[in-house]
Amino acid sequence: MAIAHSVLDFQSYSTDALNAEKIQLIESSVAQFGAPLLLLDCDAIRQQYRALQQALPTVTLHFALKPLPHPAVVRTLMAEGACFDLATTGEVELVQQLGVEPERTIHTHPIKRDSDIREALAYGTRVFVVDNLNELEKFRRYCDEVELLVRLSFRNSEAFADLSKKFGCSIEQAMMIITMAKEWNIRIKGLSFHVGSQTANPQKYVDAIHACAALMQQVVEAGLPALSTLDIGGGFPVSYNSKVMPIELFCQPINAALKTLPETMQVLAEPGRFIVAPAMTSIASVMGSAERDGQIWYYLDDGIYGSFIGLIFDDAKYPLHTLKHSSEYFASVLSGPTCDSIDVIAENILLPRLDNGDLVIAKMMGAYTSATATDFNFFKRAHTVVLNEEVVDQERLLG
Ligand SMILES: *Cc1c(COP(=O)(O)O)cnc(C)c1O
Repeated sequence: MAIAHSVLDFQSYSTDALNAEKIQLIESSVAQFGAPLLLLDCDAIRQQYRALQQALPTVTLHFALKPLPHPAVVRTLMAEGACFDLATTGEVELVQQLGVEPERTIHTHPIKRDSDIREALAYGTRVFVVDNLNELEKFRRYCDEVELLVRLSFRNSEAFADLSKKFGCSIEQAMMIITMAKEWNIRIKGLSFHVGSQTANPQKYVDAIHACAALMQQVVEAGLPALSTLDIGGGFPVSYNSKVMPIELFCQPINAALKTLPETMQVLAEPGRFIVAPAMTSIASVMGSAERDGQIWYYLDDGIYGSFIGLIFDDAKYPLHTLKHSSEYFASVLSGPTCDSIDVIAENILLPRLDNGDLVIAKMMGAYTSATATDFNFFKRAHTVVLNEEVVDQERLLG
């Protein structure tokens, strides 16, 4: 089970104080909207996107909507000139409504219903992903309209989510798919992989890039049409309670591996978490407290079934803060609001004495939080407040 924070974790982060400006913003937002809240800062989205683009200068970044499919994120990234990675019809509808040009999108779910394919095609997406013959066959009737990527599987036991267990094929299976595609007149554009989310070791990408390069060589030697594209997926890590490598260092060996590919190779990536994780801060308030077994239990209005669901599904350790300063600390439990016993955010952490209505802040809450939150027990999901969305302001100015 995923009880997250030890005493040490909390102390190291509670002293990393929120600055006065941030505290003022938190308090005014709660005064205006109540709690629980998620503050979504579009400036942070821009910063992360630019940092990754700078770290991977030859790669076309397709933001994967899955970790935070929020319209303000899509609009902010549109203004940055980003491309998008879609996986479902709902995501297609969102980018369509916001006016994203379909040429800027790829559809990367390896398993689709015919209706999903049709709706993405009707919007104008042309690039899809397959990892098996059953899926390839679905594209026979659309062979004039599509270009496919074949997704490979490279297992990664170190990642938060080893996406190569559920999706992707072996090199041998990929050869079979590419061979069959030629027979069925379906154009294979290239290869893709996802090394797993929150991958701390760039070597995983390097190994995968080299394996793909070898497969591309094999394709040409077999007399099959040459592949033009390599999609290196998502997985780029962010610092939660423990620090990861700065992104420009992380990407150095990846860039070196990409340099070994033919110069004409088009390279894509599908970052999700890296773009959005630092952009959201959650605010919960204390609903009540009780002393049990020598600890003070604080019952918050957000928890495991809400914004903190990533403690279970995503293994993420979010940095926690209170706004109270005190010389006295007590062993405490931060609990979510529902009547379920697993709804506990942190146990045995040292906190100042909190009163009802006091706020508990969590940082790095942008990825796989609100996207997967539920309203179990009818506790409403946290309301999202969008900050620094310049795009909309500019549109308003232009009338
Ligand atoms: C989830 C997902 C992503 C994003 O992964 P991150 O680890 O959040 O960067 C990218 N591509 C595909 C196909 C995915 O399923």
